[in-house]
Amino acid sequence: MSGILDGKRLLITGVITEQSLGFGVAKYAQEQGAEVVLTGFGRLSLVERIAKKLPTPAPVIELDVTDAEHLDRLADEVRKHVDGIDGVLHSIAYAPPSALGGNFLNTPWEDVATAVQVSAFSYKSLATAALPLMGNGGSIVGLTFDASQAWPVYDWMGVAKAALESANRYLARDFGPKGIRVNLVSAGPQRTMAAKSIPGFEAFEEAWTKRAPLGWSLTDSEPVAKAVAALLSDLFPATSGEILHVDGGFHAVGVERTEK
Ligand code: NAP
Repeated sequence: MSGILDGKRLLITGVITEQSLGFGVAKYAQEQGAEVVLTGFGRLSLVERIAKKLPTPAPVIELDVTDAEHLDRLADEVRKHVDGIDGVLHSIAYAPPSALGGNFLNTPWEDVATAVQVSAFSYKSLATAALPLMGNGGSIVGLTFDASQAWPVYDWMGVAKAALESANRYLARDFGPKGIRVNLVSAGPQRTMAAKSIPGFEAFEEAWTKRAPLGWSLTDSEPVAKAVAALLSDLFPATSGEILHVDGGFHAVGVERTEK
């Protein structure tokens, strides 16, 4: 059976549990014919254990996106497994506790800087580190949480996501002439490790369940995975700098659903 990612070689970041959006993408991508290489941060043995749960166990390369040495050697490490790549998923975010949970007016700059470095600047760092591996064009995809408005408790992570969304446009500008598309998927809330570290995250869960016109599952990452896979495939050849919402339609409506 042919898949939309047949023959594609993908570098996928951000896998730490089976709930990770990165895991959902890696699984669906393999089902669609892709060859996958994962990166792991810090707890490599844990990532390696999760990597074995994919339909085809995937190799894991160490990558802290804030570590210049890791970024410098990324291309050589990837070449030990594949001779080049066609697509990259950035699925990385972190903000220190003081930057989340309703402390917006008191967060120190150092913690804001960490959030922006890991969650936004790293999109550029990963893209440029992967560039030598991308021969004839390709596709880079990242994951955001709609930064066009202020949310409860999301605080400086929301500001970091606004920076990520802007970086997406600038990367699209600079990578376009190389034939590389750069796009974000704006996902609705999912119960991942990153989400659980946000105090008050339940507010999103409740709002989405009530408002999303299509309804929304907090535990099924496949809708996000399918959209990412489509952007990594050849199905969007003229789309770049885009933010594709995969949120059950939440962003398009202003108040709760009324049942008819
Ligand atoms: P997750 O499973 O916790 O994944 C986040 C990943 O980022 C983890 O693997 C984490 O590694 C990694 N990471 C943190 N700092 C890093 C660094 N310096 N270098 C490399 N990797 C680093 O959570 P997720 O929800 O799937 O998050 C993936 C992406 O989806 C994030 O950009 C997130 O903002 C976005 N997103 C999530 C939701 C949601 O509701 N869950 C909604 C919209 C968008 P460790 O765990 O080992 O620290």
